[in-house]
Amino acid sequence: MTTTAVTTLEPIDVFTSFGVRAYVTTRAFGSLSTQGDESVSDVIGRWDALRLGVLRAPRFATGRQVHGTRVVMHDGSWSGWLRVDDADGHYAPDRGTGLAVTVADCVPILIAHPSGAVAALHAGWRGTAAGILRRALTVMAEDGLSLKELRVHLGPAICGPCYEVSPEVYAQLTGKIVERPTTVDLRALLAGQASAAGVRAVTLSDDCSRCDDDRFFSHRGGDTGRQAAAIIAD
Ligand SMILES: [Zn+2]
Repeated sequence: MTTTAVTTLEPIDVFTSFGVRAYVTTRAFGSLSTQGDESVSDVIGRWDALRLGVLRAPRFATGRQVHGTRVVMHDGSWSGWLRVDDADGHYAPDRGTGLAVTVADCVPILIAHPSGAVAALHAGWRGTAAGILRRALTVMAEDGLSLKELRVHLGPAICGPCYEVSPEVYAQLTGKIVERPTTVDLRALLAGQASAAGVRAVTLSDDCSRCDDDRFFSHRGGDTGRQAAAIIAD
């Protein structure tokens, strides 16, 4: 008899040497969307499992995501769970502040510095075109961090071959004119933005939310559910 292990949570190990843990939840963890038709107690229960059981976070910040470029800085003077209005990015300079974004095809961006400063961003095509990653890197640089010392990880998201966009969207993302719908790799564009800003260590997940939609929720695959990407410096 064989048993199939169902993974509800996948660790992201690129920040371990900084004393920083990061994870992405899978479909088996359940949806973390507050906008579906699931019961509130089920969804909040999953958030509590992530915040308290997995991250063990004294402070935990999330946001109502609006495909914008606002990055909120969270100091270490509070405790509990903060849900910010209209913010797709979070930056925490102090250890002990967990951050999370929710995605289903959009790119979850996780950033850490050896000091324990961390950031989490949600970037779909709008956020990528409008520069949420550049915005976050500016916030971190203005707070005194050297961008050369950062590590940036681009988590599970829709892959290039799966992501066809209109000529209008393609032009906003690349500055190039095309005649017909064309595929675009958001993670490759974001990696280029990070490198151009001076980040040396950029890693990209191989996972596609659409190709691998038995493991991950996919908006283009018809899901209303969302997975979370979360990070905390211990
Ligand atoms: Zn794919």
